[in-house]
Amino acid sequence: MMRGAKSDITQAVGNTPIVKLNKVTEGLAADIYVKCEYLNPMGSHKDRVARNMIQEAEARGLKPGGTIVEATSGNTGAALAMMAAIRGYKCVFVMPDKMSQEKVSTLRALGAKVVVCPTAVEPEDPRSYYSVAKRISNETANCFYANQYHNPDNPAAHYRSTGPEIWEQCGPELDVLVAGLGTGGTISGTGKFLKERKPGVRLLGVDPVGSLYYDYIKDKRITKPFSYKVEGIGEDFFPSTINLDIIDEVVRVDDKECFLMTRDLVRLEGLFVGGSSGAAVAGAVKYAKASGKKENILVMLADGASKYISKIFNDDWMRENGFLEEEGPSLGTVKDLLALRGGGSHKVETASSSDTILAVVNKLKKFGISQLPVVDDGRLRGLIHESDLLKALVSGRTQDATIAEMIESDYATVTPQTKVELMKNVMNDAKVALVMDGPTIVGLVTKIDLIDFLATRVGGKVAGPKP
Ligand code: PMP
Repeated sequence: MMRGAKSDITQAVGNTPIVKLNKVTEGLAADIYVKCEYLNPMGSHKDRVARNMIQEAEARGLKPGGTIVEATSGNTGAALAMMAAIRGYKCVFVMPDKMSQEKVSTLRALGAKVVVCPTAVEPEDPRSYYSVAKRISNETANCFYANQYHNPDNPAAHYRSTGPEIWEQCGPELDVLVAGLGTGGTISGTGKFLKERKPGVRLLGVDPVGSLYYDYIKDKRITKPFSYKVEGIGEDFFPSTINLDIIDEVVRVDDKECFLMTRDLVRLEGLFVGGSSGAAVAGAVKYAKASGKKENILVMLADGASKYISKIFNDDWMRENGFLEEEGPSLGTVKDLLALRGGGSHKVETASSSDTILAVVNKLKKFGISQLPVVDDGRLRGLIHESDLLKALVSGRTQDATIAEMIESDYATVTPQTKVELMKNVMNDAKVALVMDGPTIVGLVTKIDLIDFLATRVGGKVAGPKP
């Protein structure tokens, strides 16, 4: 073989450069660097994961020539297809329907069979892409279900390759590692390696508004997930590949922040990256602004821009979704909605889990409301709704029973700054939205509140407190 050549393309996975950000970080005390995982052969960090999953499966006895099945948002599929080409497998990929057409076409171009499934169903639903992938793998002979959400060889790939590589490049000067959270493979595997070398390294996860991770990492609460546009990060269930205990901090970003930052990374820094990279950098900048510390932050840039040309880089798509600045007057924020409803100084009534059914019924009647957040010692426990009380009474509970067993999680959390445009998605998926200012509940929004706010605006009435 010629000197300097690689024996095949899988040998070119990894050794991605680390680059300093110069413009989008202006005014920050911290220095932010990025690791260009989008420069891997198939365009993402998943090349490392696919290589390790296949190598380990073969070490355990998998014979080349069978079929690889995977539930994938695109990148893992492309990476597995590269491995399949080299090692001689067929591929069947199952994708949720929110993914860009480019991703579907790319996987088909790679010779894979692609099955598209609805996004808007529960993960346990037989139509979900997780369930369909599992079914196909059970029905296909000589099949390897890569299962990136539950395969320990996913985080192990990052422990073996990404972690050591970053340590080699940065050494102990690295203070914070930032990654968007999908399967959690990147942050869990890379983070484990880096913490073994330097226990003081902080791991910062970035999570989109609508995903479960943020509330769970902050408060151990499982809230109602709702849909969002950024691809590849955030989850509506907890994969076993994520080590939530290793993550030191989590930052939440909305679609608009992610996509505007993605465009800035391309146009100001020359980094041709996709939406989850914009999300990760937007999260890192938020963190750096809040901490004000002079430190070295490294952000993982997962994949490239070419898969998102028809979305993030298409002004019409950005405008239709309300993500461009010149979109005209906005519908306002949740803060405006609360102000219209209660004059801005509305105290949020709550219950505690030791309250009796009777006490809660009396409170609901007194205030003419249908549900109360349940708070114990200043900590949000969940929600009690009149339908929960009804169910309990019908099933034979007496009115002096406590509500502890009836508390439910059918709510989402938003902040006063959340755009009203976004509330449509939130209220599609959750019964109510609790408005949180840090740990404090400052409001509760139901569907009728949203309708009332929008109807008042459309009607052109002057916004002001209702009588
Ligand atoms: N960004 C993109 C574009 C992805 O496809 C993924 C993986 N779903 C991630 C980020 C998150 O990486 P991980 O699964 O390692 O948490």
